Amino acid sequence: MFRKIIIANRGEIACRVIKTARRLGVKTVAVYSDADANALHVSLADEAVHIGASASSESYLQGERIIEAALRLGAEAVHPGYGFLSENAGFAQACADSGLVFIGPPVAAIKAMGSKSAAKTIMEKAGVPLVPGYHGDDQDSATLKASADEMGYPVLLKAVAGGGGKGMRQVWSADEFAQELKAAKRESQASFGNDDMLVEKYLTQPRHVEVQVFCDSDGEGVYLFERDCSVQRRHQKIIEEAPAPNLAKGLREEMGEAAVRAAQAIAYEGAGTVEFLLDTDGSFYFMEMNTRLQVEHPVTEFITGQDLVEWQLVVASGGKLPCKQDGLTIRGHAFEARIYAEDPANDFLPTAGPLTTLRPPLESRNVRVDTGVVEGDQVTPFYDPMIAKLVVWGEDRNQALNLLADALSEYEVGGVTTNVVFLYQLATSQPFKDAELDTGFIEKHQEVVFREAESDWLTTVAMAGAYCMLSDKGQSVGSDPWRAKTGWRLNQPSDYRYRLQVGSKKYDVRLTSLPLMSELEVSVSEIHDIDAAADVNQALQRVESCVISVTLVDNVLTVDAMGYRSNAKVAVMGDSFALYTANGATLFKHLDKELGEDAIDQGNAFIAPMNGSIVEILVDQGQAVKAGELVMVMEAMKMQHSIKATEDGVVTELFCQQGDLVDGGTVLLDFEPSEKSE
Ligand code: ADP
Repeated sequence: MFRKIIIANRGEIACRVIKTARRLGVKTVAVYSDADANALHVSLADEAVHIGASASSESYLQGERIIEAALRLGAEAVHPGYGFLSENAGFAQACADSGLVFIGPPVAAIKAMGSKSAAKTIMEKAGVPLVPGYHGDDQDSATLKASADEMGYPVLLKAVAGGGGKGMRQVWSADEFAQELKAAKRESQASFGNDDMLVEKYLTQPRHVEVQVFCDSDGEGVYLFERDCSVQRRHQKIIEEAPAPNLAKGLREEMGEAAVRAAQAIAYEGAGTVEFLLDTDGSFYFMEMNTRLQVEHPVTEFITGQDLVEWQLVVASGGKLPCKQDGLTIRGHAFEARIYAEDPANDFLPTAGPLTTLRPPLESRNVRVDTGVVEGDQVTPFYDPMIAKLVVWGEDRNQALNLLADALSEYEVGGVTTNVVFLYQLATSQPFKDAELDTGFIEKHQEVVFREAESDWLTTVAMAGAYCMLSDKGQSVGSDPWRAKTGWRLNQPSDYRYRLQVGSKKYDVRLTSLPLMSELEVSVSEIHDIDAAADVNQALQRVESCVISVTLVDNVLTVDAMGYRSNAKVAVMGDSFALYTANGATLFKHLDKELGEDAIDQGNAFIAPMNGSIVEILVDQGQAVKAGELVMVMEAMKMQHSIKATEDGVVTELFCQQGDLVDGGTVLLDFEPSEKSE
């Protein structure tokens, strides 16, 4: 076994490798860019070397600098992780030339899989099934078109040098062929400096099923079963599972053996993944081989009980495979959900910013969180915006899925928009529970997975309003009104008001506590274009109201609505919060906090939103004010906050003076609106 290795990577995979290395007594050297100077992988490693500026091209792709650092610090081997230099034959060769072990396959194997068409030719010879298609050298447009015509449409054009979905085009009929070929070639030339194409039959409902293989230098090979990675957005995986559900009898072995044949055909060593498309009729076809450890390897580790990084280190240091095929079995079921800083509502575009809150669920025998960041870190635009991989294991698929949903509902990430709520919706959707998997899953089930408001929306929005009120007040309503800190007037209704956004919809939620009835009346209005309306009242469309009792204990909100009681979990996501009810997950954004300005109106009273000082009071007791008029300026957290009237009315009482220091929650003034907006 090695004594010291260098990790040519960053983030969660660098941390993951360090974990196993430490367990095996292997010292680690991390490398880092400017942006990663304080990153988790740097602090976990035994030593760390700065290799350049933040952009990957200036740091993590600088193979020479990494090799130089390895030699200088006496590392014997290089773990490339995934991405960056992991499938770069030139880098693997340079490591070998410098006397370093590249923890991965031989250079020739990386090269063999680098061209999609050359890979297909090798696989064809090894008897591995291929998607029907053309992958020859004759690149004449007429030849390509003739092959498409012959196999029948739709077909898929793929760049021979391609990757990451670039240079890939679907062609649905013969008359589109010429135009799509031109576009695919243009894209491929721009991305890879090569415009050679191959043509494949386009499968309309395939599953993405990939097999984990491992080979040692003696030519021994095993498969560690398969993963289903059909749930993808923008051709990128987001939820993976192992084993693949509902495989026909014998198919697992058949695919596994085909994958080992594929690896042995290129004298493979180390960890590799053979990706297949599985068609609805049970036929499977080789797609490509990834010559590295995959992002989703933890699901395989969970169901086999093996540590794949350990296997990599053992094999790379000249050892034999830790296990033979008959020693490998599947136990239970595992899922991985990739937690990304991205906005599902905005075509999954990556987001960046500070992780002001980062509280993952607790790890256990069943729950594993692989991450490279901690609270306070930044998600920078320089690298992949994956925050963590949430991996769960259960006795069967059903149990694992329930654990996944529970763990997702406990994940609190604030500061950047993430896909956590989307993942929850997806994981708890009926078609996903039923394992109706294919690569078009998200498009096909849009309505279920992009849940906005639906039939139960009134209760959900009312619950969100009640949550805002209770978390502001720090207690429950209905059970013990006497513990209220603010806003209570004996024998008088007390109003609270919040503005919340769900997806593109905005709501105005008013809550009136009915102390003698231990209940809360909640009325919800949808806010229409506030800028276009003459006044606030006109922009509000009263929709409905309901009477509920609620309590909030820790992060569990219990609501009783006319004899129906339900619990909801609340996860705080910075300025937003997610409400997980029996009907699904909803992400609420505090509109007021975002506007910052007129945040503080609480119906009849204005309440200080945080600790601060009163800089200026612009109104007198008894003064009439118009909606939008400035009434007070407060300074808090080194910023001035303008407190404005949200509607026309009269300031009935002032409770503070200029220069006062006030606590968050203090009632600053009482206000009587000229007419109620309902
Ligand atoms: P890249 O290397 O650019 O990522 P792949 O060949 O790995 O491209 O394919 C990426 C994804 O595209 C697959 O996971 C699958 O969803 C889809 N795909 C690829 N080939 C086909 C095909 N012949 N028919 C249908 N879908 C395909």
